[in-house]
Amino acid sequence: MLVPPRQLDATRQLALIQRLAQMLLAARPLPQRLKDVLAALHTDQPYVAARFIVLHTGEQQGEPWSLEHPRNNYRWARARTAELLQPQPLRHEPLIQPLNSATYIGWPLRWQQRLYGALEIVLDEPEQSVELLPVLYALAPLIVTALAQPAASNGLAQPELSPDDQQWLGALAARFQAPLLLEPLLAQMLQCALERSGASRGTIYLTESNGHGLHLLAFELPQRAQPPALTAHNQTHALAKIALANGQAMIRQIGDETHFAAPLVHEDQLLGALALEGDTLSPQALLLVQRIAELAGSALLRAQFYQQIADARTHLQQVFDELPSGLALTASDGRLLRANPAWWRLWGIAPVDQPTVKLIPWDILPRILSRLPDPLAFSELFMSGSHDGREATIALHNPWQELRLLFMPVRDTLGLQAGFLLAIDDITRERESDRLKSEFVSVVSHELRTPLTSILGYTELLLARDFEAAERKEFIQTVYKEADHLSSLVEDLLNVSRLDAGKIKLERWVMALPKLVRELVAQLNTEIDVERHRVLLDVADALPPIYADRDRVRQILSNLLSNAIKYSPEGGEVVLHATPLRKAPAAAPPLPPEPAMLISVRDNGIGIPPHELNRIFERFYRVDNSNTRRIGGTGLGLAITRALVELHGGRIWAESTPGEGSTFYVTLPIATEMLRTRS
Ligand code: ADP
Repeated sequence: MLVPPRQLDATRQLALIQRLAQMLLAARPLPQRLKDVLAALHTDQPYVAARFIVLHTGEQQGEPWSLEHPRNNYRWARARTAELLQPQPLRHEPLIQPLNSATYIGWPLRWQQRLYGALEIVLDEPEQSVELLPVLYALAPLIVTALAQPAASNGLAQPELSPDDQQWLGALAARFQAPLLLEPLLAQMLQCALERSGASRGTIYLTESNGHGLHLLAFELPQRAQPPALTAHNQTHALAKIALANGQAMIRQIGDETHFAAPLVHEDQLLGALALEGDTLSPQALLLVQRIAELAGSALLRAQFYQQIADARTHLQQVFDELPSGLALTASDGRLLRANPAWWRLWGIAPVDQPTVKLIPWDILPRILSRLPDPLAFSELFMSGSHDGREATIALHNPWQELRLLFMPVRDTLGLQAGFLLAIDDITRERESDRLKSEFVSVVSHELRTPLTSILGYTELLLARDFEAAERKEFIQTVYKEADHLSSLVEDLLNVSRLDAGKIKLERWVMALPKLVRELVAQLNTEIDVERHRVLLDVADALPPIYADRDRVRQILSNLLSNAIKYSPEGGEVVLHATPLRKAPAAAPPLPPEPAMLISVRDNGIGIPPHELNRIFERFYRVDNSNTRRIGGTGLGLAITRALVELHGGRIWAESTPGEGSTFYVTLPIATEMLRTRS
């Protein structure tokens, strides 16, 4: 069916031209005005697609841009657009071409010899072009006018700031001078913008260059918002991008709601945009917000810089605090500038926090004095000349600890030495395992080889010749004694490894101590040279029973008694004393609260130097002097003894005066009802 052509209606056309002219020159941003024009044309003549191509505006010589309406992804033919925009010679007339079932109108927008852009429209019906062409003829010069002067009427330049606003802006500029971190600055900016404009929502977008173009990070009050792509506020996000791309503030009106975005720029750097939404945003308010955005650019750049420094500082501080090595930074005169928690922890002292004398090593020395074997050497370590990359090992007693101290010079920005970084590490375990390895080798080679050599020697003799019965017996006795020694050494080694593996379990019973010690001493007295040594007992019969493993208690006491005899080479008295513990002796370590029996073994032998008193309980540890070397041993006995005492819940320690003698103390639990039921 044929549709009768629509009558040309001059009045309607003129009304349309008037409306379009008003839109073009309205006080709104240029893209908005162009879009309004396309929307109005579409209402009048529903076209298939239309777009403006903008090559130049009066202000801006940037990239060409285009604006399409409706956004229906129409596939424009590039060749045709190129023909329309050809520079030489400039087109004067519109380019009108029939398409398959439609008509293309391309309108160059030019004034004299300058082409500002073009308008392209695709219409469905041929009659539409008859109606539209006269309107376009009238409109083209007005569009060029709008393109040539985009900001003259863009609505932001016109309003004036009131003196009150100007004064307020001055105060704000002063506030922005303060060194602010990023988040407080963004919060201040948003708060000011929201309060002064009456907007209902505000967002600050920050550019984040990640190598794939411009990304915006959103910040909103009261807290950081989701990434903008996930919020319903893509409108302002898109507008912020346009504002940033054009380097100027942008407004978009949707119904009653105004969206506004002002770029945050410092010199050439695009830092982000300040975007607002609201329904009663006056041009004055928006101008003020635009000024806030202008002021904020340099403050924002500074805040980002402070933030980077603050973040780096926090990271470093965390590393410093958490490091297991102790670190201390000193000025060149030895003043302590800062130290991490591990520094104090490794010295075993509480941090010095009052800013009085903080000179290394005087802040530490008095507090570790009782643990230092050689305080003079310690202080000299810090005093002596050049420290560059110097390393030293410091030994502390009670408990035994070996620390490795490293001095590293610290230089300032000019490369001059500004002080030292001191690092300490606890190398006790490292050293201990080194020592254990080498002691093990030396014990095995020495303690095994001596008896083996004599066993081999005597058996060889016995095999080679016939000896008198008495002589033979003497040789065999020696072989037996040495083999017995070997067997007890192997037994000690096995005990150590069983104790290590937790394989030794106690068989605990309620047992009487006096009987056991009497048996033990009687047996010992048969083995020793009673001319030189006397083992005495100072044990009351009425002692309360203990709760212990009989064989292990025997092992503990016999170790202590045989050491007492062994380390009294000149002979003397060994006294075993047992009494319920009432008051802990001065040198005792912290003792468990349960009732305990205190057993001591005192000798008047060679004694032990005070700083060795704790170490003798370590495995393979032997006091190294001419006496002990002569006496021989493996250094395992006391380690095993201590482990057995501790398995019972008891403690062991020693007191000694070198040259006068030693006393070893052991506590063992008294058999209380509670202890037995608990076990
Ligand atoms: P060993 O006696 O085989 O060397 P121990 O573990 O029994 O091993 O003793 C460790 C070290 O403690 C001995 O080497 C010795 O230096 C010292 N010691 C132990 N008991 C005494 C004591 N009663 N008098 C002096 N020194 C002792």
